[in-house]
Parts: sequence; structure tokens; C-alpha cells
Amino acid sequence: MNKFSWYEAKSVEDALEQVNSTLSDELYEPTQKASVFKSGGIDVFDWVKEGLLKPQKIINIRNIPGLDQISYDRKEGLHIGSNVTLAEIASNPEIKSQYLALHQAVNHAATPQLRNVSTLGGNIAQRNRCWYFRSADHDCFRKGGDRCFARHSETGENENHAILDNGTCVSVHASSIATALMAFNASVVIANAEGKQKTVQMDDFFVSAGEDIAMENILQAKEIITEIILPPPSKNTKSAYIKQVARESYDWSLADVAVVMEVSGNTCKSASIVLGAAAPVPYRSVEAQQAIESKTINSDNATAAAKAAMTKARPLSKNDYKVPLFVSTIKQTILEIA
Ligand SMILES: Cc1cc2nc3c(=O)[nH]c(=O)nc-3n(C[C@H](O)[C@H](O)[C@H](O)COP(=O)(O)OP(=O)(O)OC[C@H]3O[C@@H](n4cnc5c(N)ncnc54)[C@H](O)[C@@H]3O)c2cc1C
Repeated sequence: MNKFSWYEAKSVEDALEQVNSTLSDELYEPTQKASVFKSGGIDVFDWVKEGLLKPQKIINIRNIPGLDQISYDRKEGLHIGSNVTLAEIASNPEIKSQYLALHQAVNHAATPQLRNVSTLGGNIAQRNRCWYFRSADHDCFRKGGDRCFARHSETGENENHAILDNGTCVSVHASSIATALMAFNASVVIANAEGKQKTVQMDDFFVSAGEDIAMENILQAKEIITEIILPPPSKNTKSAYIKQVARESYDWSLADVAVVMEVSGNTCKSASIVLGAAAPVPYRSVEAQQAIESKTINSDNATAAAKAAMTKARPLSKNDYKVPLFVSTIKQTILEIA
């Protein structure tokens, strides 16, 4: 591990001032980051220990006052500070009653110990999952290298990888919580060094590999997520979330699905359907949404929507099992609503 200095940020402005602007060109090179924000530190220290991230300075934003609040109001919706831990979200009664799919997603993420430390801001900004991308021995496309090791039809270990939007990079987004947040049409509030704030829809927060393979989201070096906002649900909003894993105790997602619907009786008025571990970013399935909207929520229509979601799937050599897995999980999640 390289030597680094530690800075204890007192405020968002203070943290942003600590970012070394003269090295801004290097900030997206995972091996040469001049400074890095650390919240829970779970992902940051994985990268540092692996030797993939060699920061000169770690800026601890975990103890900045005011970023650890949850508030819910029927008109304003749900505001979750970026330093709120996953454990605090999991135990919040209003989130369980008003935003069930988010409650379910958080409760199925990582382990109780990790949820006690991990923060929501760090969770959505963590880097993608691919063992080659996360190995110092493999210089893949996403790290500026000249190949994708996972894609190779014989030697590529691609069981857990992307089946949608995987033309450029086949890693999957790490956050299974973002699947639920995006389904609720959440937005991300970002503060910058000029003292300004912007609010970005979750759909626009993530950056597809085709747009920029070096980034998974729009965050710039001198930007900090301060909160995540979920719009208020109506009394006809229903939601559900299901995550499929290889090990029952805890595991990264093989396929996870969040569905948020406006219903009238047993009819779907509008649907928001997002897939996790399907693509390099959380994947909104417009095909599934269109297939179920204005339809009765029953087994046949749920199956049709689930199959529609997979029409663009392009599995790799070892992960075609994900297509039927997603079909059954999407169907099951839609039927949970009914
Ligand atoms: C074994 C294991 C299993 C896991 N399983 C799951 C799972 O099933 N589902 C899931 O969703 N997650 C899972 N995780 C992820 C974990 O729960 C954490 O959410 C994640 O590792 C990062 O959270 P953190 O607060 O520690 O972020 P950090 O490690 O502190 O930061 C992560 C990244 O976000 C940046 N960052 C942090 N906060 C901010 C901010 N406010 N503004 C801007 N940038 C910021 C950091 O600079 C860094 O780049 C798992 C982790 C492990 C180790």
C-alpha cells in the first residue's frame, strides 16, 4: 500500500477545497488519483489495498455534519443524506412503509456488518464489479488497457457479467440499491467547489460504457453527493424488489429487479422497471414497462413483460443462464405487486 495523508473534512466546502486541482487530468486514472473522498471506505480501501488506487491524500467526508439525516414528508418525499448508512435505511419505518422496494434492496445488500459502515453516497458511487477490472494484473479497457479479458469466449470468466448494453464493457454496476432508487425515479443532489448544487435524475447520473468507459457516473473530481431524493409516492404506488444470488447468506447480485407501479385495482397504470447486474449501469427496461402498462397484472402479462425485457440481451460465453433468470425474476417481481 502506498503512503497517503489523511484529511478530516469539516464541511462539504472544506472537503472540496482539499481536492488537488492541478492534477485534475489524472483524477480519472485509477492508479494515479491525487486525492480521493472516503465515506464508509469499504470500496475505497479495497482499491487502495489492491494497489489500483494510489492516492496522495484521503479526504474523509464521513464525519461532515448534516449529511447523515433521513427525512420524509408526504409532499416533499424522502430525503436521504449521502452519509446515511445502509443499516439506518434498512431500519427506517417510513422507508419500509412508503418505499418497500428500497427497504428490500437495502436489506439484501452486503452483510449486516457492512451495512453498518457503508453509506448511500458511497454505495451509488462505488466502482463496477468485474474481477479483471478489479485486479492489478489485468489492464483492461476500463483501466485504459487494450483488451477485455472477460469477453474472451474460451478463457474469459464471465459468469457474473453483463448481458445488456455490453458492447464496450461487460462489467456490471455494483450497486443493487441503485436498482431500487432508479425505479423510484430518485434524483441525486451534487455540490461543487463553486458553492453550487445541481440535482440530477438517477437515469442521468450513471454513464454508459459506450459514452465513457473510464467513468460509471457523471461525478467530477470536485463534486460531492450530498443527498438522494425520492419523490413522494401516491396512495396507488406499489413496489417490489427481488435479488438473485449464488449464496443464500449474502452475495453480490446475479440478477436483481425493482418494480414501482401506479395501479388501479389490478391494472398497471404506469410502471418503472429497473434491472441490476444486467449491464454496466442500472438498466431501465423500457420494453418491459411498455409491455405491462395499461394491462391487468397477471401471470401471462408479467411473462410477456419479462420476455420483452430480454429481447436485446446478448449473453457472453458463460452467462446465458442470466436470460431465463431475469425472465423469471422480472415476472415474479411484477406479480409481487399484485
Ligand atoms: C463483500 C461485499 C458485499 C457487498 N454486497 C453489496 C450488495 O449486494 N449490494 C450493494 O449495493 N453493495 C454491496 N456492497 C457494497 C458496500 O455495501 C458499500 O456500499 C460500498 O462498498 C461503498 O460504500 P462506502 O460508503 O464504503 O463508500 P466508499 O468506499 O467510502 O466510497 C466509494 C466511492 O464513492 C466515492 N464517494 C463516497 N461518498 C461520496 C460522496 N458523498 N460524494 C461523492 N463521492 C463519494 C468515493 O470516493 C469512492 O470512489 C458490498 C461490499 C462488499 C465488500
